[in-house]
Amino acid sequence: MKKKLGKKGKYIIPISIIAMIVISMIIISITYLKYIQELIDSNTLNNLSELTKQDAAKIENQISQHKKILENIVSKIEKMSNITEKEIFDIYENSIANEEFSRLAIMYEDGKTLTSDGETVDLSDEKEEFFSSYDVQISKSRKSKVDREEINIYSKKVNVEGNKIVVLLVLETDKYENIFAESIYNGRGYEYIINSNGEIMANSNKKNNGYSLFNILEILENSENKKKLEEMKINIKEYEDGNVKYEVLGKYYYTSYKYLNINDWYLVIITPGSLIAQEYNKTLKVTFGVSIVINLVALVMAIYIVISNKNKKRKLYQLAYIDQLTNLGNNNYFIGKGMEKLQEKDFKGYLIIIDIDKFKTFNKKYGRIKGDFLLQEFGNKLKTIFGENQLISRLTNDVFAVLYKIDYGNDKNLLEKIENINDDLSNIKIGENKYKILVSIGVCEIHREEKEMFEILDKALMAHNMAKGNYNKKYYIFDEKLEKQIIKEHDIEVNMQEGIENKEFKVFYQPKINAKTGKVEEAEALVRWEKNGKLIPPGDFIPVFEKNKFIIQLDKYIYEIVCRDLKEWKKIYDKEIKISVNISRQHLVQEEFIEEYYKIAKKYDIEPKEIELEITETTEIDIEIDKQLGITEILKKIKEKGFKISIDDFGTGYSSLNMLQDMPIDVIKIDKSFINQEKMLEIIMMMAKKLNLKTVAEGVETEKQVEILKDLEVNLLQGYYFSKPLKKIEFEKYWQNN
Ligand code: C2E
Ligand code: CA
Ligand code: CA
Repeated sequence: MKKKLGKKGKYIIPISIIAMIVISMIIISITYLKYIQELIDSNTLNNLSELTKQDAAKIENQISQHKKILENIVSKIEKMSNITEKEIFDIYENSIANEEFSRLAIMYEDGKTLTSDGETVDLSDEKEEFFSSYDVQISKSRKSKVDREEINIYSKKVNVEGNKIVVLLVLETDKYENIFAESIYNGRGYEYIINSNGEIMANSNKKNNGYSLFNILEILENSENKKKLEEMKINIKEYEDGNVKYEVLGKYYYTSYKYLNINDWYLVIITPGSLIAQEYNKTLKVTFGVSIVINLVALVMAIYIVISNKNKKRKLYQLAYIDQLTNLGNNNYFIGKGMEKLQEKDFKGYLIIIDIDKFKTFNKKYGRIKGDFLLQEFGNKLKTIFGENQLISRLTNDVFAVLYKIDYGNDKNLLEKIENINDDLSNIKIGENKYKILVSIGVCEIHREEKEMFEILDKALMAHNMAKGNYNKKYYIFDEKLEKQIIKEHDIEVNMQEGIENKEFKVFYQPKINAKTGKVEEAEALVRWEKNGKLIPPGDFIPVFEKNKFIIQLDKYIYEIVCRDLKEWKKIYDKEIKISVNISRQHLVQEEFIEEYYKIAKKYDIEPKEIELEITETTEIDIEIDKQLGITEILKKIKEKGFKISIDDFGTGYSSLNMLQDMPIDVIKIDKSFINQEKMLEIIMMMAKKLNLKTVAEGVETEKQVEILKDLEVNLLQGYYFSKPLKKIEFEKYWQNN
C-alpha cells in the first residue's frame, strides 16, 4: 500500500537535516577546541611571563648584590694606601663573598692576573674588555683558565696609587642557575640568560652554554616559526620583552623573554607544550568527551525525530487511507487511487462492488470478533480472485470495491469469475469452522473514454443495489435497461410510504376450495397497490420492497387488515374461515416479529390458529444460510405460538424429505408450475402424506386439473378455475354462496 513514487526523494530531507546537524556540531566542536587551545595558550604564556618576571627579578637582585659586594671590596681597597696584593686577597677572604664566589683576582694592565687561590693567569688578550670602564661589569660565561669551570666575572677598574688595576670577582655560572626556578615545569622547561645576540650566558641545561640560543632555535624550519623568531630577535635588540609560541614537529613550545637590566642580557624561559598539555589534558579530554557525547546525543535525537516523524506520517497515512481491519485501502484510498488509475491512457476494466449478504446477522449470531475475521478472510479471498495488483478496498462495513484493470491476458474470464464468485465463497474458513456466505455484486464496465470516478462508482453501486436482497440473481452489470428499471424502482420507493398512509394498498382474497366438498374453506390474502385508479401488480413492487425491507412493514399492514376483516366476519357470519397471509423471509431473521403478530391477532380477538403464514421454500443458496441463522428454530417458535405454517411455491426450492421432516410445518403449497406435471404431483403428494402434511394446489385453471388433483387427494384447490383474487366485498359474496 505504500506509495512507490518518490522513494528516493523521501530521504533527502532527513539525510540533509542529519548532515547539517553533524556538520554544525563538528564546527562547534572545532571552534570550541580552538577557543580552549587559545585559552590555554594565553594562560600558559601569561603564567610563563609571570614566572620569567619573577626569576628575572631574582637574578637582577642577585646580580646587584654581587655588584655591591664587588663595589664594597673595591671601596675598601681604594681607602687603603700602599695596599698589597695580600691585603686585597685578605679583604676578600674576610668578606662573606668568599663562600659564594670562586675567587677574587687582580688584573694588571698587561693582562697578568693573580687569583686569591694563588694562581697566576695571563688574560692579556681579553684585558681591553675589563679596562674599558670604571663601572662594574659582568662578563659572559666563559671557561675558567684556572679550573676549566664555567664562570662569569664581575669586574671593576680601580686606580691604586696611580696604577690601574681591575678587581675581578669570579662566579661559577652554576650560581645563577641555582636561582632559576628549581623546578620549572618539573625540570622539563629550559631557562637561559642570553645576550642580545642570543649567546647563552647561563643555562638551566648546561650543555648548550656558549652557543647561541638563536642558532638552536634556527632549526624551527617552518616559515611561521621563522617569522616569530625574527620578531623575537628584533624585540631583544630593542630591549623589549615578549612571549612567543611556536610549533616543531607537531609539538608546541612556549617561550617568554625578559630584559634583565644588566648588559644586554635577557632571561628566556622555554617550555614544551606537552607539559602544559599534561596540565590541561584533563580539561581537554573532558571537553572533547562532552562535546562528542553532546554530538552523539544530538545525532541520536535527530535520527529519533526523523524516524518518529516518518512513523507519524506513516500512521497518519494509514489512518487516512488504510483500512485497519483488512489492511486494504479504505474508501478515500479507493477513490483517490481510482481517479489516478482512470487517467491512465487506454484504461479499460470494471468497477465491482461486492458486499456480504446478511453480514449484520452473521455479526449478531457469531459475534464481532468472528465477523471481523470474516471480513479479513473475505478481503484475502478477493485478492486471490481478482489478483494482488488490482485496486481492492473496503468502502464501508462489509462493502468492498475492486477496480479491475484489463491488461493483456487477464480479462477473458472476469465476468465468468464474478458469476461463479458465490461458489468460491462456499466455504470461508474462520478458525476451525467453515462458513458459507453469499455476496451481492454490482458491476460497471469502464470504457476507454470514461474518466469520471464518481459516476462509475454510482453506476456500480446501482447495479449492486439491484443484486442486494435478490435471491435469484446475485450480480448485475449496469446498462441502460437496468437504469430504466432503477428509475422505476426509485419511483416505487419514493411513493411506498405515502401508499400506506393513503391506504393505497388493498387486500384481495383468493378462495381455497376443499377438493372433496367443493366448499370454500380458506383463502389467501394477496396485496394490490391501487394508485391513481390503476392497479400495480405485486410482481412490480414486492421485489423492490424485499430489497429495501419495506416488505416487513407492508406485510404487517396487510396482516392487520386480514385480522380486522376476520374479526368483522366473525360478527356477521356463522361460517368460519382460515386466511393465509404471505410473509417475506426477511421476517425470519427478526424473532420479535412473532410477538408482534401475536399481539395484533389478540388485538382483534383472533386466535393464531385461524391464520396461516405462507413462507416461500428455500432456494439452494438459502439452505446454508438458514442453517446458520437458525431459521428452523424461529419456525418452531412461530408454531409454538399457535400459527399455522405453509411452504409456498413448493417444488421450486430445494427442500429434501429430510429437511421437511425436521421443519415444523403444517401445509405445503404446490407451486403452480407443476400443475400439469402429474408424475411430479404424485411424488409431492406421496411425500406430503408420509409427513402428514396438508396440501394446497395453486394455479388451478381447468376442470381436468381439478379431476387429477382430486384423484391425488390434494386437500385444497386454489386458482382461476374457481376464482381470481377478489375484493373484500366480492370475496364475501363468493364465500357465502359456495
Ligand atoms: P403467490 O404467493 O404464489 O400467490 C399466488 C399468485 O398466483 C397470485 O399472484 C395469484 O393471483 C396467482 N394466481 C392465482 N390463481 C391463478 C391461476 O389459476 N393461474 C395463474 N397463472 N395465477 C394464479 P399475485 O397476486 O400477482 O401475487 C404474486 C406474488 O406476490 C405472490 O405469489 C406472492 O409471492 C407475492 N405476494 C402477494 N401478496 C403478498 C403479500 O401480501 N406479502 C408478500 N410478502 N408477498 C405477497
Ligand atoms: Ca402465497
Ligand atoms: Ca405460490
